[in-house]
Amino acid sequence: MANAPPPTLRLKLDREALAHNWTALDRMSGEAHAGAAVKANCYGLGIDTCVPVLRDAGAEHFFVAHWSEVEAIALHVPAKRIAVLHGPLNADEATYARQTGAVPVIDSLRQAKLWSESGGGRCHLMVDSGINRLGISLTEISDPLIDALDIDVLMSHLACADEDVPMNARQLADFRSVLPRIKHKSASFANSAGIALGSEYHFDLTRPGLSLYGGVPREELAEDIRQVAYPEAAIIQTRNLSAGETVGYNAVFTSDRDMRVGVVSIGYADGYLRCWTGKGKFEHEGRNIPVLGKVSMDMVVVDLTGAPDIGEGDWLSLPYHLPDAAQQSTLSQYELLTLLGTRYDRQ
Ligand SMILES: *Cc1c(COP(=O)(O)O)cnc(C)c1O
Repeated sequence: MANAPPPTLRLKLDREALAHNWTALDRMSGEAHAGAAVKANCYGLGIDTCVPVLRDAGAEHFFVAHWSEVEAIALHVPAKRIAVLHGPLNADEATYARQTGAVPVIDSLRQAKLWSESGGGRCHLMVDSGINRLGISLTEISDPLIDALDIDVLMSHLACADEDVPMNARQLADFRSVLPRIKHKSASFANSAGIALGSEYHFDLTRPGLSLYGGVPREELAEDIRQVAYPEAAIIQTRNLSAGETVGYNAVFTSDRDMRVGVVSIGYADGYLRCWTGKGKFEHEGRNIPVLGKVSMDMVVVDLTGAPDIGEGDWLSLPYHLPDAAQQSTLSQYELLTLLGTRYDRQ
């Protein structure tokens, strides 16, 4: 087939900002080395762009959730540097770990048994210190199934690192109490927000994700973390409305005057959700271009009154400074990143 023309929707990725963010988080991690959470296609931004940048910046530990994510990451880094957070669910997954060399994070006694019975070998261990998600509980750490493991990184995960609550110190104390009781080579505790909680939270290896990609979960990170993702969409049609006409599904916007509008090639299938209805804005050369009516699957209509010189084929940028966009949309910064769909030209 002929080469497809480029999409009318693009995601500009600032590679320098991404490298800068990893370096900043590594520096803030003090004595610890920063790894990189690259799950969910690097939080939606694209493995093939992001992983080489993170690797070249100096990251050596890469974290994904699923076994299905290993192959694409392993095109860029050795599989033994990829940790799979969900661990092995069954013998097929344990076999896949062995075949690829990716490292399972053991999350339960059942997984510990499964891994040892499939031949054992290097693994990581997740201890649950209170989030009650994945990980062995504190009452299970003396189990012989754990003693039988060859544990490289012993880790735990914070539930509320983006807040100042007593639970952080409680989880820290519990994690500390576990360390002398389980054989391991290194320890890992902090995600992006956890890095900002201070040096006691750093141990040997930190696991930032969100802040690599421009997220600011705590104010302490605001100064050092730069925006990485810049979505842009083209105007694919302009039209003139008369006073009293409506726009979009359910006709929720009614024009009070004659006005010129543009149809922009981005919709909720591209992560621009309906929550932006009535409050979303695009920008063109510093001018605000408000969204009119409901967001559709593939399109949204905007008011071009303030930018009479632009039209079909022109590109609008979507303001995507994550802390601000999260506040305006009520989506989390994580959702704003991972929602971005597959139709963008990732540049
Ligand atoms: C996703 C994840 C991280 C990264 O967390 P951020 O908040 O995105 O920095 C770290 N550790 C574990 C276990 C995770 O699941």
